[in-house]
Amino acid sequence: MRELLRKNIANLVPYSCARNDFEGEADVYLDANENWRDFVGEQGRNRYPDPLCKQVRKALDEVLGLPFANTVIGNGSDEIIDNLFRCFCNPGLDKAIIMSPTYGAYRVFADINDVLVGQVPLKADFSIDFDGLEAFLQQEKKSGVDEGRSKLLFICSPNNPTGNAYPIDQIERVCSLFDGITVVDEAYFDFSSTESAVSLLSRFPRLVVLRTLSKCWSLANARVGIAVANEAVCKVLISMKYPYNVGGPSQELALKGLVQADGVREALATTLEERKRVEAALPLLPCVVKVFPSDANFLLVRVDQADAIYHYLAQKGIIVRNRSRELHCENCLRITIGSREENDKLLVALSQYKEI
Ligand code: PMP
Repeated sequence: MRELLRKNIANLVPYSCARNDFEGEADVYLDANENWRDFVGEQGRNRYPDPLCKQVRKALDEVLGLPFANTVIGNGSDEIIDNLFRCFCNPGLDKAIIMSPTYGAYRVFADINDVLVGQVPLKADFSIDFDGLEAFLQQEKKSGVDEGRSKLLFICSPNNPTGNAYPIDQIERVCSLFDGITVVDEAYFDFSSTESAVSLLSRFPRLVVLRTLSKCWSLANARVGIAVANEAVCKVLISMKYPYNVGGPSQELALKGLVQADGVREALATTLEERKRVEAALPLLPCVVKVFPSDANFLLVRVDQADAIYHYLAQKGIIVRNRSRELHCENCLRITIGSREENDKLLVALSQYKEI
């Protein structure tokens, strides 16, 4: 793994914050230049939070079976994606492989970090183009080291915006083909019935699996994302992150959310029932051309006039995502599954839509 890292990260002497230097409980903390007085009336708000989010990681281990030693918490999984670029990709030289259409932030973080993007687009049926991937990697092997190399490869499963999940044997095949860091983004994992790529970690030390509490765990506002990775990768991600990247209130919200597993499971069951209902109702509407099958909490829907319908819905106070400019997604809207009432409002509005 070390040879994949940027040199400055491999040689980094990490910032050592006060809360890292001392372990355990003490009476008097005069180590972090905090204010002795707590103004907002909530205990501990004058103190820095745990930089390693130990309690959250313990809860993730107990509730989701994500091993404590293999997790790093980010300020949303977006922060972890950005940090992966900063760890592994030399700006202006190295590449990241992206399979479009997929989560748009991979490209944006690549651009921000001045990292080139190698495209291995999904096939028109949204499956992974293994021939294309092999050809891309072979071509890269032929070119010299000075031309940089692909350090990261992103697979989003279930994929945003297409909704399909990839079977574990396909993820395994990608990990076998690619000798860089394979990032499997499982933000929508809870809505699918596929096996998690976490089970591959022991065999593929260069695999990083991303999870988030923003979707099924209803905590998008808290900003808590999770990297599940080999211990060496975790160590690097911890060494270079902002020392106190996840605030105390967010860590507390995560802990409160994770003990609500029963409620979360109940809401998940309702979301899946609603997905089925909306998926069945949409094709009956004249403006709907196709509803793609989904393993996530949204549906990709091909309509006859995506731009017009997007504006029509917005003007009725219903906001969906227009994905019609994405590869293979002509005239497609991505529609989140909401509450039963919200979904009904959407269906009624679409049934009243008249082509202009
Ligand atoms: N990955 C995917 C595939 C997403 O769709 C999103 C958010 N829409 C994220 C990651 C970012 O999630 P977070 O809230 O954890 O930053």
